[in-house]
Amino acid sequence: MRVTLLGTGDTTGTPTVGCDCETCRTARERGLERTRFSVHVENERTGESLLVDFSPDFRYQFLRDDVALPDAGIITHIHFDHLDGLGNAFRVFDSLEVYAADETDPRTGKSVAETVADDYHYLNTITVLPTTPLESTRICGLDVTFVPVDHPPLVCYGLAIEDPETGAKLSITGDTSYAVPEGSREVLADPDLLLADAIVPAHLCASHPAGGRHEGPDGTPYTFGSKHMTREGALTLAEELEASRTRLVHLAHYYPAEEAFEEPLAVDGERYVLE
Ligand SMILES: [Zn+2]
Ligand SMILES: [Zn+2]
Ligand SMILES: [Zn+2]
Repeated sequence: MRVTLLGTGDTTGTPTVGCDCETCRTARERGLERTRFSVHVENERTGESLLVDFSPDFRYQFLRDDVALPDAGIITHIHFDHLDGLGNAFRVFDSLEVYAADETDPRTGKSVAETVADDYHYLNTITVLPTTPLESTRICGLDVTFVPVDHPPLVCYGLAIEDPETGAKLSITGDTSYAVPEGSREVLADPDLLLADAIVPAHLCASHPAGGRHEGPDGTPYTFGSKHMTREGALTLAEELEASRTRLVHLAHYYPAEEAFEEPLAVDGERYVLE
């Protein structure tokens, strides 16, 4: 399984448009970037590839990283930075199957699959396949399981992606607070590579109107506001899941410049081969 991190940023990306903060300046100087979230997963055995989330930066990411167009796609949730690149499917694909969860979101009255189908009803290229969480589905020769996570007020899903031949396993937390349900943790556990939402370091909770929550034993908040993990929360989850390797993703430009490009914070274009 070959994994390419196409987009490792939060909803504004780094550099952020119009921003002259030291982190955005450093990124420009060093030629680093964190575009909006997307992960390319190639099954080297079959030559097929699967795209996790359709970033608004879809076109740019595929040109920049020179990866194959996907044979199937997944949408984890309906926020702009994960869904709104799907319009790029027009005239680029003859047909594309897009998998999304089938559970009704009390907030919208629709499942993610229904929202995607409704929002892109004019796009004949795509077929949305409603998928039941916590059940394994074979996509591009890989076993994919959607797991519910905690991203209020919307439903959102993490993913476990396993190669049934080699046993290689990629886990993606999705956009989530630290309060990932136990049943989901069991499915995500023991990955060769974990991609974990870590939007900011915990010390920035002081500047969020909602502060932080889900404090660890020393009082460190593992959740920033209510929707995303802090760096410390993501690293704690990684330990609890016994991830062999962890990259932090969905990163905001609010990381101070001296912390923003430290390990294990990811930048766009990183590639990993899982065996
Ligand atoms: Zn900035
Ligand atoms: Zn989100
Ligand atoms: Zn997001």
